[in-house]
Amino acid sequence: MRFRPRNVRSRLTLWYVLVLASLLALYAGVASLFLFLSLREDFDQNLLQDIETVEGMLAKEPNGLVSLHASHPDAAEPRIGHLIEVWSPEGSLLYRSAALQDQALGGSPDRDEGLHDPAPSTSRLPNGTRVRMASSIYHVEDRRVVIRVAYGEDRLWRELSEFGEVLLLGFPIAVLLAGFGGYALARKALAPIDSMATQATKISAERLSDRLSIENSEDELGKLGAVFNDTLARLQAAFDQLRRFTADASHELRTPLTAIRSVGEVALQDQRSPVEYRDVIGSMLEEVDRLTRLSESLLALSRADAGHVQLQREDISLVRVAREASSLVEVLAEEKRQRTDIEGNADLLVSADRLILRQAIVNLLDNAIKYSPPESRILVRVQSEGDKQVSLDVVDQGPGIPSEHQPYVFDRFYRVDRARTREWGGTGLGLSITRWAIEAHGGNVALESTEGRGSTFRISLPLAKYSSTNQSKGGPQ
Ligand code: ADP
Repeated sequence: MRFRPRNVRSRLTLWYVLVLASLLALYAGVASLFLFLSLREDFDQNLLQDIETVEGMLAKEPNGLVSLHASHPDAAEPRIGHLIEVWSPEGSLLYRSAALQDQALGGSPDRDEGLHDPAPSTSRLPNGTRVRMASSIYHVEDRRVVIRVAYGEDRLWRELSEFGEVLLLGFPIAVLLAGFGGYALARKALAPIDSMATQATKISAERLSDRLSIENSEDELGKLGAVFNDTLARLQAAFDQLRRFTADASHELRTPLTAIRSVGEVALQDQRSPVEYRDVIGSMLEEVDRLTRLSESLLALSRADAGHVQLQREDISLVRVAREASSLVEVLAEEKRQRTDIEGNADLLVSADRLILRQAIVNLLDNAIKYSPPESRILVRVQSEGDKQVSLDVVDQGPGIPSEHQPYVFDRFYRVDRARTREWGGTGLGLSITRWAIEAHGGNVALESTEGRGSTFRISLPLAKYSSTNQSKGGPQ
């Protein structure tokens, strides 16, 4: 089973302690190695000095043999652990320290001893003691002798193990302190997360205006808090919009229903002539018409919102779609004796869903007819905008839209003049559907209007060969 502490605080501490322990172990290893090397270096220096001392103590006896004179000032008695052997070239032992207790420091020298590396080396005595030994060849007048000097290595290992013990004792203390310190630090660093989590749990759909308090907006947690707050702000905006939409939609649905009901009730109060009943039924049907249009628009919007609308794209001439749209609203224009002219190059193609694009243009034409005076002229003009875009303008000679209303006319249920627009049968959803439809095709809609001097709605779309196949998922606002 894998050990994995549940909270980040403990995980951070664990990692911290593990890393620190490994670093300490590495440090201890390297420090011990350096201590060992430097102690051995000391040993080797002493060995070489001692060889020189022993060389000074050698003298040739009158009988021709070489002997070791203890008369040399340095030769008092070799230091503790100081082991010396001197061999004559014939293989007879000239001197051996008492401390060696008859153990050879390397036995009788070989003939080619002189070729051996004189550098100190480590070896074992027959009794198992580890010694550091150096040897040298020395000439006493014409006689050659082999000198060997050695120290027991116990002192070196003792110092090393004492050092190791100190380290070993300090190790758990350091790790323990690091653990406590690390835990306290992690706790302090992560405390804002706890407080953010507590605040976040209190935020509900009814309290979307609440925000997390941010201590330091520059650090990582502050940035996380800011991102969360931004998300909340977007959620709040979407929620508010949805609430407004639902409230507006129910209000819009209630108005015609109330009208139908009151017209019916009034008609039922007295006995009326068939002509009067026909009038009542006629005005009820008008309200039903309005309800039908409204529910169709709401359906279109909710399908668009849910991202259920799949565009069936084909390359079509924008002028031809404009003609189709115009023929759909022709009757309305004729009623007001308005003239609709369509201008433009029929070769300008867009990659679009014919029905959705046509509906977008119908909505613009319908508004132009509805809000323009009788006998006015409505112009639909298609032209290329550079070599990648094509635009379609719907120009009317209506009352125009006051500039303070212009930014909102594409919003759902927004009407410049509520009462009068209803009278004309507007639902307040036409432009938002148009905007969604055009944006879904990768284009945009803009309005240019001066009060009293007509309005121009401009649809811009990518030309067929430049349109991307991506379609926007968002619904109309
Ligand atoms: P509606 O169904 O009420 O026309 P729209 O979303 O189509 O809803 O339009 C929103 C509002 O913008 C309308 O109520 C109207 O006040 C204004 N508007 C739209 N088109 C025109 C236009 N061509 N001329 C004047 N006002 C317009």
